[in-house]
Amino acid sequence: STRLGFIGLGVMGGPMCRNLVRRAGVPVTAFDVNAQALEAAGAERAASAAEVAERADVVFLSLPGGPQVEDVVLNELLPHARPGQTVVDLSTSPVQLAQRLAATLAEQDVLFLDAPVARTRQAAVDGTLSITVGAPDAAAFDRVEPYLRCMATEVRHCGPPGAGALVKLVNNLVVFETVVALAEAVTLARRTGLVGDETLFDALAAGSAASFALDNHGRKALLPDTHPRGAFPASYMRKDIGYALDLAEQAGLRLPAALLAHELLDAACGAGHEEEYHTVVVRVIDQ
Ligand code: NAD
Repeated sequence: STRLGFIGLGVMGGPMCRNLVRRAGVPVTAFDVNAQALEAAGAERAASAAEVAERADVVFLSLPGGPQVEDVVLNELLPHARPGQTVVDLSTSPVQLAQRLAATLAEQDVLFLDAPVARTRQAAVDGTLSITVGAPDAAAFDRVEPYLRCMATEVRHCGPPGAGALVKLVNNLVVFETVVALAEAVTLARRTGLVGDETLFDALAAGSAASFALDNHGRKALLPDTHPRGAFPASYMRKDIGYALDLAEQAGLRLPAALLAHELLDAACGAGHEEEYHTVVVRVIDQ
């Protein structure tokens, strides 16, 4: 029967791997450079990514970003790859990397799909993520969809290789630009002293400024001004906005709001907030 592999067992990968172990009904072999994370994942343990490649037919990756994905795929998985194997990148990685890896692996008859995940760590725990997939055809998508459904309630084939990554990058662009707008709104309102936080957010939510970001990032992080570590950090949001900007540049497009968003994240990371929840940019605006 099919054997699964999982590489990268961090904030998102740990709970995603546990859901695969619990629900996929087939053996899962996992690896992480962090021994503690590997221990906690509840899968059979491998000593390296290469060993995962040797043992698994479908290998999932949940790594920090493009450089780690490229390194693991080209240097650990590819040398051990067999025709018919599948690699599924759940990380948020560059569109161009997904396209390049899909083409390189196809030469060895190995399938590469970009399948980044949206929503939160809690959604990873609950198995209610939203996954956007880039796959060369419906047959390739169908092959991995049942496994993705062990981790997600929304699984969408968006288009060819790179399409899943593209949708994820613009998702984060929209979310983060909304977070910045909310941070500016609350900071300006506080400076004037004319309206309380709760009244402001209740009124916005009742008008056409209502949004998921207002209810979640706004009410749970911006209003109490708490930006905990261990969630989606400023450094990862900066990476994702950076990937969107690289893609825009390649497409001959200038995205002024994204450029400003990236500057804000740079400033937040430069001020020592890189590990904190990305809503911490409100501190930069407040200064
Ligand atoms: P994380 O830093 O918590 O986890 C990454 C894991 O990869 C770590 O356990 C690390 O030890 C491991 N790792 C790094 N290099 C490795 C290598 N060469 N071989 C094996 N393991 C290696 O990150 P995360 O928050 O779980 O995010 C993973 C991906 O998902 C990122 O691309 C992120 O942008 C994306 N994402 C995160 C969230 C979130 O809320 N945290 C939400 C959606 C998407």
